[in-house]
Amino acid sequence: MPEGDTVWLVAHNLDRALAGDVLNRTDFRVPSLATTDLAGRTVIDVMPRGKHLLMRVEGGLTVHSHLRMDGAWHLHRPGARWTGGPDHEVRVVLSTSAWDAIGYRLPVLELVETAHEDSVVGHLGPDLLDPGFDLDEALRRLLRQPDREIGQALLDQTVLAGIGNIYKAESLFLERTSPWTTVGEVEHLPRLVDRARRLLDANKAHSSQATTADPRADHWVYGRGGRPCLRCGGRVATASQGDPPYERVTYWCSACQPGPSPVVAPSYRARPPGRRAPRRT
Ligand SMILES: [Zn+2]
Repeated sequence: MPEGDTVWLVAHNLDRALAGDVLNRTDFRVPSLATTDLAGRTVIDVMPRGKHLLMRVEGGLTVHSHLRMDGAWHLHRPGARWTGGPDHEVRVVLSTSAWDAIGYRLPVLELVETAHEDSVVGHLGPDLLDPGFDLDEALRRLLRQPDREIGQALLDQTVLAGIGNIYKAESLFLERTSPWTTVGEVEHLPRLVDRARRLLDANKAHSSQATTADPRADHWVYGRGGRPCLRCGGRVATASQGDPPYERVTYWCSACQPGPSPVVAPSYRARPPGRRAPRRT
């Protein structure tokens, strides 16, 4: 799933291509917007908010989209061949005289009043890529549930907006913290949040999401289950973390990231020796 840095770059590219220009054709291919026509309106700007995209157009309207797992926005010059997927996956086409912006497979695509953007992004916590990122508010939201595992809390967009599975795993590795440590037990919580913010920031302007400068691998632990830890040579562990339907695979090195680990259930024994079955009542 795209993380905050990917969405930031998509917004940045859409903004550079479209902002200030008039839409000369719009084609919404989702039932709820089938009759919507924004032609004649100027695009004001395109802003990322966590993993959400907000495209403001003249007249107080915002096109809100979210990429989720495999949505994408592509930019093509008029007349160029579109490359983002088959035609039936196109959800919207927004054209200016210079660019066609094509939204593919967008699971969220809706039109809201710009004045009421809060109705779609107001639930989000502080945005790690917002220049005015509010660390104190982020910490306050994290510490509201001190018994929660940090690996889950970092993914909660209502706590912090922008972190996905890659930057969660990599920030925790770099700050030597087990994903199963509870929020209240994390030794340097501000430093951990700042680490995630810096990783996102370092990767926002290009499509790579590297967190190491190591030629052996782009990531310390993410996607490297069972392989040797780049720091200590131990085996990178994987386990599912979180409750359905929000569980995600977590990667960590138990040597470099000491702390709690998932408990492996002992093998089942039908009845402990010497003890009788409970009597039915
Ligand atoms: Zn290690």
